[in-house]
Amino acid sequence: MIWDSHYILFVMLPGLLIGLWAQMRLHSAFSKYGQVPVENGLSGAEAARHILDQAGLRDMPIEEVPGQLSDHYDPTKRALFLSSDNYHGRSVAAVGVAAHEAGHALQHLHQDALFNMRMALVPVTQFASYAWVGVLFLGMVLHLIPHYLLIAVAIFTVLTLFQLVTLPVEYDASARAKDQLFRLGLVRPDERVGVSRVLDAAALTYVAALVTAVLQLLYYISLARNSRN
Ligand SMILES: [Zn+2]
Repeated sequence: MIWDSHYILFVMLPGLLIGLWAQMRLHSAFSKYGQVPVENGLSGAEAARHILDQAGLRDMPIEEVPGQLSDHYDPTKRALFLSSDNYHGRSVAAVGVAAHEAGHALQHLHQDALFNMRMALVPVTQFASYAWVGVLFLGMVLHLIPHYLLIAVAIFTVLTLFQLVTLPVEYDASARAKDQLFRLGLVRPDERVGVSRVLDAAALTYVAALVTAVLQLLYYISLARNSRN
């Protein structure tokens, strides 16, 4: 039942294809703009430092983390974490990603409503993802939960909502990044185009995640409806 032909055709396959497409776009944007140096010679970490300092966040640490594209802002630690490539890199891509993470810190600083909502949804989403494994096993495999399809719909509603809130938060962080880079004179107008390409490509992975979540939700809604008839 988990692997029925409808699931493969309408959920797995399109999810896989859009995910692959997003990864390819991301890879091509990074391999291109990872080679283009920024004229002012700043590294990603230095550019982020400028943005944070200008916003009055002088005490906020910027740390290097292993991994590729492991860059993130941690609201609980109130710290920026940049992958080695983007921490040390002096390319348009590195400066763009670092500025994007600084953009999240600015959202937090300004108490952006959607940023706060996403933060509040993180523990709920984590619980829902774990709970899903249990529901799947007890309901679908062992048939121990009679209404597990309704629970599945509830779980995928939470996961879809999370992806839905994530999307504008990500685009807003990128908008703040471009705005700050330009306003502080950290990138030239022509470099701004490259920053946009890189950040738009990165945002596509969140679009792919949202599409996949919606497809899964629709699938379980249709199963739940059919089981009632
Ligand atoms: Zn982000």
